[in-house]
Amino acid sequence: MDDPRAPDSDPHATLLPCPQCDLVLSVVDPAPGEWVRCPRCLHPLARHAVQDQTSPALAVTALILLAVSLSFPYIRFEKNGIGEQMGLLDAATELAAFHHPALAVVVFATIVVMPVCFLLALLWVHASLSRVGRPGGAALPGTAALVRALPRWQPWMMADVFAIAALVSLIKIAGMAEVTLKPGFWAFTGFALALLITVQRLHPLALWARLAGPPVAPPDARPGRTALAQGLVGCEQCGHLQPLAGPHRCQRCGARLHRRNPASLQRTWALLIAATLCCFPAHLYPIMITTSLGHTQPATIISGVLQFVQHGDWPIALIIFTASVLVPFGKIMALAWLSLAARGDRPLDMTAQMRLYRITEWVGRWSMIDVFVVAIVVALVRLGNLLSIAPGPGGGAFAAVVVLTMLAAFSFDPRLIWDRQSADPGPATQRNDDEPDTLPRHS
Ligand SMILES: [Zn+2]
Ligand SMILES: [Zn+2]
Repeated sequence: MDDPRAPDSDPHATLLPCPQCDLVLSVVDPAPGEWVRCPRCLHPLARHAVQDQTSPALAVTALILLAVSLSFPYIRFEKNGIGEQMGLLDAATELAAFHHPALAVVVFATIVVMPVCFLLALLWVHASLSRVGRPGGAALPGTAALVRALPRWQPWMMADVFAIAALVSLIKIAGMAEVTLKPGFWAFTGFALALLITVQRLHPLALWARLAGPPVAPPDARPGRTALAQGLVGCEQCGHLQPLAGPHRCQRCGARLHRRNPASLQRTWALLIAATLCCFPAHLYPIMITTSLGHTQPATIISGVLQFVQHGDWPIALIIFTASVLVPFGKIMALAWLSLAARGDRPLDMTAQMRLYRITEWVGRWSMIDVFVVAIVVALVRLGNLLSIAPGPGGGAFAAVVVLTMLAAFSFDPRLIWDRQSADPGPATQRNDDEPDTLPRHS
């Protein structure tokens, strides 16, 4: 792999700002299968651009599999000759029926609505790209807005988390009654897999290169220093370097330009405080209430974990404990620590800081496992006084913790911690993240 910090003598090199540490790098298109990583913060910047038809094919496959999984039953549950089966949509509608409409909306949006919007948008973008490739062809309307939206929607699609939650639910209820997997289950698992691969293949920088041509950096831009220190701003969407003074929107892709996310630390703190407050009801109130032969037993997140331990299901107990207890608390602590680090001026182990940030950003959505488990068992176990499970008030509060910590991670701008550590003596080390976005150009 070429050293992305090498001087820009290569005519094929492109100057790109690292979106996580703001260092300007001279990047050459890497070999197939390879990534170019930022040498300072190790963020994966670019990979080999291919004209691929696989992504649209995968998107169509995923949509067909989702349609199949919505049309057939998902899981069947039988006890003492009485049976009940659930469809995928029941996971949301039953929550609404139990007066948890907000939770029902979160479940429906993350497993159906967001993935469908994402896949349709991706197909629209690829149709647009094939028109752009032809002589005289123009992009379809709305293409730029959709390419900007795709990476933002990505973390909110949770079909893979739901598929894992279904497995956990099966283990949870397998001891209570006989459980049969229906065609909808297999179709949804296939859909989750196809969606996962489609998302992995998404590379916004390559999409922008095909839509708008390669980015052209200002002639005075140099690699090896931060964009801010050179009086430039890098577009977070398309990687285009441009002068700070000027329009608020990127000249190449039309995205809003921020030298640093506006009020990043204030918003992160506000969301973290809200998430911490929601942790109390999430862990103190039951997330599900089981009725068995007229006997009612509420279960909190922790008591649910202990139940798995009592039954000897250690791996599941560990998964639920990690996803529902360790991850949310760890994430709040980690983001608070990073926000303090961005304000302080003590020297830090930057590699460790960035690893912490990336783990918190990646891992957050997996905390939804427990919410989905509740949605599935509530939809499935509906045998009245014989055996039924109802959602408890803790579930909604826990979903709020997950959403708020995810929003906090997205609000946090990792470039702020690099600004504090930057060896660059430019204005990057001096500025406050609350300053307006269009300051006079530093030179
Ligand atoms: Zn970097
Ligand atoms: Zn842009």
